[in-house]
Amino acid sequence: MERTLVIIKPDAVNRALVGEVLNRFERKGLKIVACKMQYLKDEELFEHYSHLKDKPFFKDLVDFMKHAPSILMVLEGVRAIDAVRQLAGSTYGIEANPGTIRGDYSMSRSNTIIHASDSQESAEKEIERFFDEKEIFQWEKIDFSEVYSVDERA
Ligand code: ADP
Repeated sequence: MERTLVIIKPDAVNRALVGEVLNRFERKGLKIVACKMQYLKDEELFEHYSHLKDKPFFKDLVDFMKHAPSILMVLEGVRAIDAVRQLAGSTYGIEANPGTIRGDYSMSRSNTIIHASDSQESAEKEIERFFDEKEIFQWEKIDFSEVYSVDERA
């Protein structure tokens, strides 16, 4: 089963959109295996956004990610990384498809409501960056057999 890291960003927390966003993941059939609230630290953000360190907006991005707490979570499911990226929509809110999280709640290139891992490699690194193994729950969600067909459950 695949795991992905999601960060509900400070803009969504301040705009009281946590429930709306979480609701979409739950309704989709994704399983929450870890969840916590915290202020993100400089060193975590420098690492997390190292692929953007040369961009002119990098400092603003780091400041934005620290201006309120974030909700961090690990979601699990079949092809969870792809499923969450589809739910998130493309980066720029104005251009994101209606029906996606960004398409419905964002007007911005920077205030993008959530972060979602974009590959298996980054999901593994990101989960390790923000969570201790003991914070991640292994539990059986009782609707598993309703969410997936028999051949999809393997
Ligand atoms: P995504 O979050 O869709 O995976 P990126 O990895 O390209 O996209 O960017 C990470 C984050 O950096 C975005 O979610 C957004 O907060 C910020 N960002 C990306 N592009 C811009 C931009 N042109 N101007 C300001 N902030 C940006």
